[in-house]
Amino acid sequence: MSIEGGRHASLGATARAAFLARCRAIAGDAQVLSGADCAPYLTDWRGRFTGAALAVLRPATTDQVAALVRACGDAGVPMVPQGGRTGLVQGSVPDASGDAVVLSLARMQRIRQLDPVNRTMTVDAGCILHDVQQAAAASACLFPLSLAAEGSCSIGGNLSTNAGGTAVLRYGNARALCLGLEVVTAQGDVWDGLRGLRKDNTGYDLRDLFIGAEGTLGIITGAVLQLFPRPKATLTALVALASPSAATTLLLLAQDSCGASLTGFELMSHYCLQLVQQQFPALPRPIKQEHPYYVLLEVASSESEAHAAHLLERTLATAFEDGVAQDAVLSSTLAQAQGLWDIREHIPLAQARAGHNIKHDIALPVSAIAGFIARTDAALAQHFAGCQVVCFGHLGDGNLHYNVAAPAGMHDADFLASQDAVNAVVYASVAEDGGSISAEHGIGALKRDALVRHKSAVELALMRSVKQALDPRNLMNPGKVL
Ligand code: FAD
Repeated sequence: MSIEGGRHASLGATARAAFLARCRAIAGDAQVLSGADCAPYLTDWRGRFTGAALAVLRPATTDQVAALVRACGDAGVPMVPQGGRTGLVQGSVPDASGDAVVLSLARMQRIRQLDPVNRTMTVDAGCILHDVQQAAAASACLFPLSLAAEGSCSIGGNLSTNAGGTAVLRYGNARALCLGLEVVTAQGDVWDGLRGLRKDNTGYDLRDLFIGAEGTLGIITGAVLQLFPRPKATLTALVALASPSAATTLLLLAQDSCGASLTGFELMSHYCLQLVQQQFPALPRPIKQEHPYYVLLEVASSESEAHAAHLLERTLATAFEDGVAQDAVLSSTLAQAQGLWDIREHIPLAQARAGHNIKHDIALPVSAIAGFIARTDAALAQHFAGCQVVCFGHLGDGNLHYNVAAPAGMHDADFLASQDAVNAVVYASVAEDGGSISAEHGIGALKRDALVRHKSAVELALMRSVKQALDPRNLMNPGKVL
């Protein structure tokens, strides 16, 4: 296989057989999948794209990953690292050429070490996020990364996308939760950066380079994660509001009133809740009357449940006094709190069931959010009459999922044909407020063209220099990000 102008030419039959034989010798016959066995690894979570692969490789150890990367390098075979395949930007599936291998980390699920004194956990990159949360809990610690895909997504995928989720407001995103990394480079070397240090100013920060790189610079095989004390109590409330502007006011009020105890602040439009009710009628409907917007607010206390209740009740009392809140429901049991979070976490699933939509995962200054929603809702209504905006997200982080679905009665395919035009309206509005076109999902293959339009020439040139330095043959997840 050779690289022609950045593209990779296919292997001939003999070279292909020799390459697959070498992979089998490294990982074992059963762990080199081909033909129909590859199918479960080739379609993205949203079912919008199915690629093809020369093979799916399933290594069990870092040494096997390194040996497979060297085999790919020698044969000139591109590699697509894959974790739980829950990414939303088509980053973990190969293109349609069938020239690349998928390198799945699914068998690398070891928790290597838990250090309760340093409050760190060292894990294989294939560990499922939920399992890591559970392992932390078993040692009376908290690993706070939390997102609706946590039952399937992997730590390697979380770090490679710098995942956000619902607790960023208090604990930061995946980057902030990672102290050290182990990475197999594009050359097949192992960089052991598994340091559990909170301070380490020894030159360029390689860890931060690989985090958020979406598998385009190397393969993350292990990580040192940061743990936190478990709160004594966590309480959740659902608050009904008249507008996004009221939600911003409530955010400031809650931050002033609760300080670092405010751990979650999620915005949802009425349309989102309606969608969840339609698709998942068994879920609770805690506020019966309709309101334009809702906020899910979570408060955690390291003291007691009474303290958490005091903080939450004080916040809500002020919100009602100031005319900010229209209605509210407070969870008094763990099951009730879970019921409230279930509503929020079922929004992406309800959307997926309801049909295709045009997704936007945008970041804005918190102060710009209300104006952005009003302006962009109006622009979309003007250009695409009757379209449905599914607006929800992590308001406390300035992160909105601002998704646009077809008007009632229109076929999804007809509406998706307008994707570029819809994106143009939304992204122009994002640019007006100095925002970002990707807050937490990354770029993948889906937003690669948009990235070129929204980054400066200087920023793109710097990114290309990094890629060229670390992966000069463009074998690491080609066609993604850049
Ligand atoms: P994959 O989808 O397998 O891969 C994602 C990217 O990382 C790909 O580019 C892949 O090549 C690369 N990659 C994977 N593993 C490695 C590795 N070991 N080394 C190098 N590169 C690698 N995301 C959020 O940030 N916040 C949310 O709140 C959120 N909610 C979601 C809710 C639902 C219902 C779904 C389906 C997704 C959601 N996501 C969210 C997106 C997704 O779950 C995250 O991006 C997650 O971090 C991806 O992890 P994964 O293991 O599935 O990665």
